Amino acid sequence: MTTYNRVLIKLSGEVFGGGKIGVDPDVVAKVAREIAAVVREGVGVAIVVGGGNFFRGAEMQQRGMDRARADYMGMLGTVMNCLALQDFLEKEGIETRVQTAITMGQVAEPYIPRRAMRHLEKGRVVIFGAGAGMPFFSTDTVAAQRALETRCEVVLMAKQGVDGIYSADPNKDPLATKYDTLTFSEALQQGIKIADATAFALCMENNLPLIVFGAEDEGAILRIVRGEKIGTRVSR
Ligand code: UDP
Repeated sequence: MTTYNRVLIKLSGEVFGGGKIGVDPDVVAKVAREIAAVVREGVGVAIVVGGGNFFRGAEMQQRGMDRARADYMGMLGTVMNCLALQDFLEKEGIETRVQTAITMGQVAEPYIPRRAMRHLEKGRVVIFGAGAGMPFFSTDTVAAQRALETRCEVVLMAKQGVDGIYSADPNKDPLATKYDTLTFSEALQQGIKIADATAFALCMENNLPLIVFGAEDEGAILRIVRGEKIGTRVSR
């Protein structure tokens, strides 16, 4: 028995590049193996993919680009990550569908919630790309929204370079301590930036728990769905 029947995994773009720009196939293959193990356990898996390894709209705006146009480029970046992940998941023998919020019929299905649900019911992994299809949003927000719409019980947020939520940045402050659990209001009071504010608000309002864990942590997702308490769990 697993703790969850259906989970949404948010993979930030950084995970795909292993901290560098672009896609590192070895890293994606490893992530795909971990996700495949979760699927074989009988857990439904939806995935929202970030794009920070290619392009972040806000950073490009600071360097003179129009924000909305840069954001569209950012969304397109997420789709490349989706295709890489799809490829490696299929090499693991896992059936997958990519659905994008910006229509591009040659490479992916459009985002159709009811169809996504159907795929999940059939045991397929659904990978959501192109964010919300709208500038000024983030893939974190989309992760919360897709989790709610496809009835996932939890958002599992993989982070590169950190294995949970800390009282301060553990890479800068040696006294930073890790939280095992937090309530939404504690996280808000302490000004902790787990996800962006919109994503966080969606989770809080809809009582959708969030688990932040380290992307480099071997077998983390499988261990979480089996009930092991790793990373930091944020809930009501
Ligand atoms: N983006 C957007 N709307 C969305 C999702 C993403 O405009 O609904 C753009 C935005 O420019 C963002 C980029 O796509 O910076 C990459 O997504 P994000 O930064 O969320 O990826 P991550 O940080 O998870 O790698």
